[in-house]
Amino acid sequence: MIKINNNVIKKIYKKIKEYDKIVIARHIGPDPDAIASQTALRDSIRLTFPNKEVSAVGLGVSKFKYYGILDKIENEKFEDCLLIVLDVPNLVRVDGIDGLKYKEILKIDHHPAEDIKGKVDWTEETSCSTCQMIAELILKSPLKLDTKIAGNLYLGIVSDSDRFLLSYTTPKTFKIVNELLEESKIDFTSLYNYLYDRSLDEVRFQGYLANNMIVTEHGLGYIIIPNEVIKEYNVDLATPSNLINSFNFIREVIVWTFITEDSKNNSYKVSIRSHGPVVNKTAAKYNGGGHKFASGARLTSEEEINNFINDLDTLCEEYKRASISNID
Ligand code: AMP
Repeated sequence: MIKINNNVIKKIYKKIKEYDKIVIARHIGPDPDAIASQTALRDSIRLTFPNKEVSAVGLGVSKFKYYGILDKIENEKFEDCLLIVLDVPNLVRVDGIDGLKYKEILKIDHHPAEDIKGKVDWTEETSCSTCQMIAELILKSPLKLDTKIAGNLYLGIVSDSDRFLLSYTTPKTFKIVNELLEESKIDFTSLYNYLYDRSLDEVRFQGYLANNMIVTEHGLGYIIIPNEVIKEYNVDLATPSNLINSFNFIREVIVWTFITEDSKNNSYKVSIRSHGPVVNKTAAKYNGGGHKFASGARLTSEEEINNFINDLDTLCEEYKRASISNID
């Protein structure tokens, strides 16, 4: 039986109805799921309630402009608003709400819960994406859908589930996608270019990563990417995270991590993926977090980088040992 969350959906819809002013935020360094869930919910509320003031905040990312333009707000105009936070469980990583005096916070997210806790909170760790949850909310409530909203939600789901490859892809994902496509009649195969269009520079950079990734005997793949390499290939700090899923299904690799120098912030931005050991606890030890098998972190020194690599390598070693003893 696929569980549909009628209760919490009713509560969320009631809250949306109750407020005239609504601000929708998501995490810093947004990905398609974060941006698309944000603009889809904003546009659906605007379509359903044309008299409400609804804004989607945070720093815009030019390569994601297809999903919709974000709003610049004056905090004073939105005092006492409902703040809806999407795709992020902790307040420090919410983008664009500095100085905003909101009356109430409501969270919809598929990450493990952290410090954001509103009276109404929908956390569904088994969901492949926040877009899947927003699609469920719109399909199961009086909130309206149009082709643009449906397209955004579809791309967010495809992106965060890595084309239905990752383990959080469930029968419910397919049920919701089916309903979304049936209801909106969108020409979904025509949308993939918005998600997968990339430069030759990026493809060449992917080659660099493949050529330079170190793989330990325990199955940890890692690479430390200096700022000069990012510049040389004409890519940016977000590119390694965008490419990390392409390194799935490598026979010799159980866990893989890209450690990218962020010279502006004097630190290293880290992406981690796993097809076995749970990695978000290790990420949390290094200023990070995320999902069990897809996490991120921040490192600030060479010593920390070494400790982090050793911790992940030990995880792989233990995982391999446990897998062998299970076979015995
Ligand atoms: P990424 O590798 O950047 O795609 O991130 C993978 C997952 O980890 C996403 O769900 C992020 O929201 C989460 N994440 C990335 N960096 C951090 C961080 N510094 N702290 C907490 N969660 C993070």
